Amino acid sequence: MKLLPFDFERLDLDNVLLTNIAGEAILLTSKEFEILCNEDYDWLPELSVNELAAKHFIANDDSLDLSINLLANKLRSRKDYLSGFTSLHMVVLTLRCNCMCSYCHASSKGGISDHAYDMDEFTARNTVNMIFKSPAPVIKIEFQGGEPTLNFDILKVIVLYAEELNTTACKELSFVICTNLLSLSDEQLDFLHKHKVDISTSCDGTKSMHDYCRKSLVSDSAYESFINNLEKCRNIYGRDNGPSALLTVTRNNLGRLREIIDHYRFLGFNNMFIRALNPYGYALDNKNNLDYSVDEFVKAYKDALAYIIDLNIKGIFFVESYAALLLQRILTPFSTGFVDLQSPSGAGILGCIYNFNGEVYPADEGRMLAARGDKTFLMGNVNNNSYEDIFHGKLIQKLVKNSCVECMPGCSYCAYKNYCGSDPIRYYVECNDIVGKRYSSGFCKKNKAIIKELLHYLIKKDSATMKVFWSWINRKPLEVCDDNK
Ligand code: SF4
Ligand code: SF4
Repeated sequence: MKLLPFDFERLDLDNVLLTNIAGEAILLTSKEFEILCNEDYDWLPELSVNELAAKHFIANDDSLDLSINLLANKLRSRKDYLSGFTSLHMVVLTLRCNCMCSYCHASSKGGISDHAYDMDEFTARNTVNMIFKSPAPVIKIEFQGGEPTLNFDILKVIVLYAEELNTTACKELSFVICTNLLSLSDEQLDFLHKHKVDISTSCDGTKSMHDYCRKSLVSDSAYESFINNLEKCRNIYGRDNGPSALLTVTRNNLGRLREIIDHYRFLGFNNMFIRALNPYGYALDNKNNLDYSVDEFVKAYKDALAYIIDLNIKGIFFVESYAALLLQRILTPFSTGFVDLQSPSGAGILGCIYNFNGEVYPADEGRMLAARGDKTFLMGNVNNNSYEDIFHGKLIQKLVKNSCVECMPGCSYCAYKNYCGSDPIRYYVECNDIVGKRYSSGFCKKNKAIIKELLHYLIKKDSATMKVFWSWINRKPLEVCDDNK
C-alpha cells in the first residue's frame, strides 16, 4: 500500500480533513491520521481503508499506476475549462443607467440620454468578429452595462450578427442580458424571447430594502418597476424560464437574509445568488455606509444556507447558486464555468469583457479599475488589435502564470485549494500585486469559511441534506431527482 499526494487541515484537536487533486475529501480522527502518516495501515479500521482507497488517498502496490491514472483523469476533467478557451464574452453596451445604485460596481456614468458612453455599430460588429475568433465550442454572450436595454439597437445588431456568423461557425451559442428590469418595452421583450436571450436581474429584498440602495431615475420606485417588468417577463418566458436574480448584500440587508429568502419565494423565484459587496466602483466610495466585515457576511451566509437547506428538506425547492457551484466542484469531477473559482484564474481565458469603446479586459473588475483611471488590465481594443494581440498577449500570460493556486504561496498547501480559485485583479486592488497576500485577503477568508461549512454538511452525510445538495447540482426539485432514479 502506498500513500498518494494529499493536503490536510486540522479542524480541531480530534479531526483532520484530507483533500486531494481529484477533489475528494475525507475526515479522519487525529489518531487515524497519525496511523495513516506512519503507513501502519493494519491499524486503520477496514471502512477507513476502503474509503481512503476509493478516494485515491492510498493505493495498493499492484494498482498504483491505475490509481495515478484515475487521479490524472479526474484532474483533467476538473481543468476541462482550459481546453475550450474563452467562452463567456461580456459586452458592455453602454455605461448609462436608469438607476443610481449606491453600490454600483460598474461605475455607471452619464445622464440617461448622454450617448457618449454607448457602444456604436462599428465596435459592436468588431466585437462579434473577435468573439467568433475564440476557439471555444460554447459561446455565451452576456450583455451588461450600465443598463444594457438603454442601447437596445446595438444589442439587436450583436444578436443578429452573431447568429449570422454562427450559421457557419456552428458553435453552441447563447445570450443573456443582465438588466435591472426598470424599463423593458413589449417590443424589446419579444425580441429577447424570440432570440432566446436569458434574463438575469437583481433583487435586494422587499420594497424598502430594494429601494434603499437602488434609486430609480425613471420611476418613483425601482422595486415597483422591477415587479411590473418581472411579471411581464414571466408572462412571455413562462414561470420556469423567467429571470434569475442576484442579491447584493449590504449592511442594510445583511441581518435580514431569511426575510429576503421568503420574499424571493413570494416573488416566485426558486433560486438566489448571494453576492457579497466587492471593493469596486461606487461600493468603494460608499464603503462607510454599505460595508461589513467578512466574519459578519459569513455568519449571515451560513444562517441563510441552513435556512434554505431546511426549506428544501420540507419540500420547497430553492437553490442558493453560489453554494450549488461550490458543491459541483466538491462533489463532481466536472469543471464549472464560474470565472472567479478557477486555477489558473478564468480571467481572460474563460471569460472576458468588451467595454462600450471596444477595449477588452480579462474581467469586469479590470474594466472597473480602468473606469477609475488604472488601465493595468487593458488587453487591447477590438477596433485596433488582432485576436492574437489581445488573447495571446503578455498580460494574459502573466495572469495565467500567477494565478495557479497549486503553486501560489499560501495556497499551494491549502486543503481547500481544489474547490477554490484565484482572483488576481482583486489581489491587485487590495495589495497592488496580482499574487497578493491570500491568507489575509477577504477573498480567501470568505471562500475558505463557505467551503468549510459545506464540507461540514458533507462529512455529516445526512441523507436528507445530501439529497438536497444533489438536487441543487442537478437543478431539479428533490421529487424529480427521485423520479429519475
Ligand atoms: S448596479 Fe446596475 S442598475 Fe445599479 S446603477 Fe449600476 S449598472 Fe445601474
Ligand atoms: S485563497 Fe485561501 S482558501 Fe483559497 S486556495 Fe488560497 S489559501 Fe486556500
